[in-house]
Amino acid sequence: MAYITISKSNFFHNLKFLSYKLGSKEKLAVVLKDNAYGHGLTLMAKLSNEFGIKKAVVKNEEEAQQIEKFFETIIVLNPNFTSKKYSLVLNSKEKLKDIKKSQKIHIKIDTGMHRNGIVIDEIETVIKEIIKKKAKIEGILTHFRSADELSSELFWQEKQWEEIKKKIKKICSILNIPIPLFHSANSATTLRKSFYKDDFSRCGISIYGYHEMPTVYGKFDLKPVLKLYAQKISTRKLKKGSRVGYGGVGVLKKDSFVSTYDIGYSDGFLRNIYPNLLGKVSMDSISLLGDKEKVCIIDDAKEIAKLNNTISYDILVKLNKNIERIVK
Ligand SMILES: *Cc1c(COP(=O)(O)O)cnc(C)c1O
Repeated sequence: MAYITISKSNFFHNLKFLSYKLGSKEKLAVVLKDNAYGHGLTLMAKLSNEFGIKKAVVKNEEEAQQIEKFFETIIVLNPNFTSKKYSLVLNSKEKLKDIKKSQKIHIKIDTGMHRNGIVIDEIETVIKEIIKKKAKIEGILTHFRSADELSSELFWQEKQWEEIKKKIKKICSILNIPIPLFHSANSATTLRKSFYKDDFSRCGISIYGYHEMPTVYGKFDLKPVLKLYAQKISTRKLKKGSRVGYGGVGVLKKDSFVSTYDIGYSDGFLRNIYPNLLGKVSMDSISLLGDKEKVCIIDDAKEIAKLNNTISYDILVKLNKNIERIVK
């Protein structure tokens, strides 16, 4: 069977690098949404806990529930407001009605992404509404628009964010409620900044060893955590000119050993899963030259991403949940 290996030492290396950059482990929240970017949700939660991480970020309450014993704080990005245990993000005014007594709320502010979030002019009304419902305002967050692109826009968004923080602190002091935790940075912002003024960062792709920034920002000491291996199903010797696989696209230049391996579309793959593919990918298998017992299909997800005109994130999250993950 195809399998995935998770390198604990590379994962810890990345967590160490990021928490050192941020100043402490407390300032690093690990983003474990989308099955921990394909790495395996509970497995990565357990390892994060072992390293000493206290905060995690997921998409919904179901994901939060699976990992609740590993963290002090779990932030749910797209909640349905059923739980009092987790920290729930309020993405829009329309969701105010779903908030219940004693829930922990993080208010998302729109600082230019314009996908969701509360606009700053409405923040005071929203804070008052939440207090009226006897819920707790635990955090305030935003998500920057161009953190991984080469422009000065991040600078302006950050400036605006600092203004927003000031304004919210003032509102809190007038209303006599505790100052919430502020968080805005994803991996790109965290990597680009030498120090960070927020209470913590939300790092996703970087903890798994990747970033998608132009090389002018320098090299970052991150190591890919995941490798994907396929195992051989069978080998046959074929004559020069034989055509292999769907469409007969793979034509042999000479007499060769050709093997099939147990990985295909059903495992989450795109068309170009491997540089030296013979013919097209099938549902559950691929063909390659040679007769090796196993082949490493993903070593660096960025290379596969390039072959498919996409980014590492896209390759990783598509990996089928049912492939066995082994910690090495
Ligand atoms: C996915 C996500 C992150 C993590 O982003 P990376 O670029 O993977 O570090 C942070 N914050 C929010 C709100 C997200 O949705």
